[in-house]
Amino acid sequence: MNPTEQFLQWVKESGNIVFFGGAGVSTESGIPDFRSVDGLYNQEYDYPPETILSHTFYMQNTSEFYRFYRNKMLCLTAKPNAAHKKLAELESAGKLKAVITQNIDGLHQAAGSRTVLELHGSVHRNYCRKCGRLYDAKYILNSKDCPVCESCGGDIKPDVVLYEEGLDDDTMRQSIRYITQADMLIIGGTSLAVYPAARLIDYYRGSRLVLINQSTTPYDHRADLRIEGKIGEIFSEIEL
Ligand code: NAD
Repeated sequence: MNPTEQFLQWVKESGNIVFFGGAGVSTESGIPDFRSVDGLYNQEYDYPPETILSHTFYMQNTSEFYRFYRNKMLCLTAKPNAAHKKLAELESAGKLKAVITQNIDGLHQAAGSRTVLELHGSVHRNYCRKCGRLYDAKYILNSKDCPVCESCGGDIKPDVVLYEEGLDDDTMRQSIRYITQADMLIIGGTSLAVYPAARLIDYYRGSRLVLINQSTTPYDHRADLRIEGKIGEIFSEIEL
């Protein structure tokens, strides 16, 4: 049996699947990741994305933060691809219990997934730092320079976990619970280089840990099965 056949067989047999993914899940929807050859780390910017997307940078260079954020992180026309869609179908079929994602693009929900744990927040939620009023992503896209609140004039910040900021405790706890109980854990499209998210792999106790990636990761030796390829193409082979 080749790795993809083995993967399809395990999906068929498992009833408590959890998916944990990253930016590579959305590259086939046209959203660049950070670390692929055509990812954001390999493009020309004055600062690396990790610097621009840090709390310190946001506080000190808010205008430059928003210039990058609008250009590179707000991809509001992107549509879910085969991986997002198949994950939603697996959930509807009762086989998949949760999608845990490092992505902030909202494409899993757009595909119909209901239990989506967003470890790093979402571009679709933005709030006034002074009065708490909420704003959608379009408001940020259409505003100029640093967006401000219509009610009180306060600064608006995306509900996205920036570097140097902590993850939401409850989201982390729920993610750990789902992974601990899973009979199959599929990890796809993540370099497993961002912590503490990458550490979630340690909570899986089963024997069906599948890693799907176009390149190697520091955790390849932990996988029961490794598939090298495009996640959308691989997921589209799942038949329900
Ligand atoms: P990453 O850029 O560090 O790694 C992406 C990984 O996915 C790479 O190992 C790459 O080889 C692989 N990959 C790319 N396309 C793939 C495909 N079609 N099929 C299979 N594998 C593919 O991303 P990360 O690990 O998620 O960490 C980066 C951080 O930046 C995360 O916090 C993430 O949320 C954020 N980010 C999010 C988005 C988004 O919301 N779409 C986009 C860029 C970065």
